[in-house]
Amino acid sequence: MNNYSRRKFIYQLGAGAGMLMLSPLSRWQNAVASRPGKKMGIALVGLGSYATYQLAPALLETQNCELAGIVTGTAEKAVKWQERYKIPDKNIYNYGNFDAIADNDAIDIVYVVLPNSMHHEYVIRAAKAGKHVICEKPMAVSMKECHEMIDTCRKSGVRLFIGYRLHFDPYHLAARKFRTSDAGRLQSVDSAFAFRIGDPAQWRLNKSLAGGGSVMDLGVYCIQASRYSIGEEPVSVTAVEEKTDPVKFAQVEETMKMQLEFPGGMTATAMCSYNRFANYLKLTSEKGRFELDSAFSYNGISGRTNNGKLSFPPFNQQAAQMDGFSRCIAEGLPSDADGEEGLKDMRVIEAIYKSAATKTKTAVIED
Ligand code: NAD
Repeated sequence: MNNYSRRKFIYQLGAGAGMLMLSPLSRWQNAVASRPGKKMGIALVGLGSYATYQLAPALLETQNCELAGIVTGTAEKAVKWQERYKIPDKNIYNYGNFDAIADNDAIDIVYVVLPNSMHHEYVIRAAKAGKHVICEKPMAVSMKECHEMIDTCRKSGVRLFIGYRLHFDPYHLAARKFRTSDAGRLQSVDSAFAFRIGDPAQWRLNKSLAGGGSVMDLGVYCIQASRYSIGEEPVSVTAVEEKTDPVKFAQVEETMKMQLEFPGGMTATAMCSYNRFANYLKLTSEKGRFELDSAFSYNGISGRTNNGKLSFPPFNQQAAQMDGFSRCIAEGLPSDADGEEGLKDMRVIEAIYKSAATKTKTAVIED
């Protein structure tokens, strides 16, 4: 049995026993034992803006993982990345020969950073190749795709994580705690994420590649923040779409205003747009308030409560996220940024689109 097969076998033993905790000799220890002194190897699939300017630089700061491979359709990019990050020839793939990654012991995790509608295919191909997977947000473009991705990863005995970098950010971890702080009962949650999108030819404005517009790309942050600030799952949504530029936004929504109703009686309000500027999360309670502004950026998040300014040391969200996921794999720990979490957001997103289309309050359906 080679090193990869041994690691996969040990993981499947854990999963087969109906538990995420693995044998005392964790897979991380196995991985380290099989490659002394080496970190978990990540292959980035899709070398666009996020991979180039956030993930690859973050992988120079990670403790538990490193950039080991790339998957790209552009030969010139492969040459540049190979030079810059010293990636061996054998760890460079294109979209055609990607499945051969199954035979590459240097790659433990495949990180899918492609346009949204491609997540489903590449997560499934990575899982079938026996690799753990990190998939960028939004997880996919439908609940059906999310289910298929989760099922395939489970059957393949690999882990699936979603690139929810804010699950690791100290300001957002503080937001989660506000409802149980001494500020009393949570009373309101309001969030917005919006920017003016540029190039009209980009994939984000193409429905078949993006799956949707500002909701898929930015609204998902507001949905996440509403869910984790309140600590419940929304039961219904009311959404209204606004479009001021029907030419640029011919295929996808421009602005969406949303209300998410939660079983405990809370209603969260949210707005996302490709044609405005906004970036905040505001919580109020009986005795206090908690605000992040900007709230959803990679860095430069600024926060305050009724007790004063919130201040955390500079923090690399992407490095923390990839180290965190690597540790979950290594030690068999559960993650709250897994495929199920991506599916929960997709349920809300589908209800939002339905509500906007039917102009009625719409239930968030389990499946
Ligand atoms: P991008 O356009 O900069 O990069 C997309 C990459 O996919 C490019 O390398 C492109 O060559 C490749 N690609 C392959 N097939 C393609 C096709 N048919 N059409 C277009 N591109 C194709 O996009 P990005 O900003 O890097 O976003 C990629 C993914 O990462 C998206 O799912 C996005 O939502 C996500 N993302 C997440 C964050 C975050 O903070 N978590 C930030 C930015 C992007």
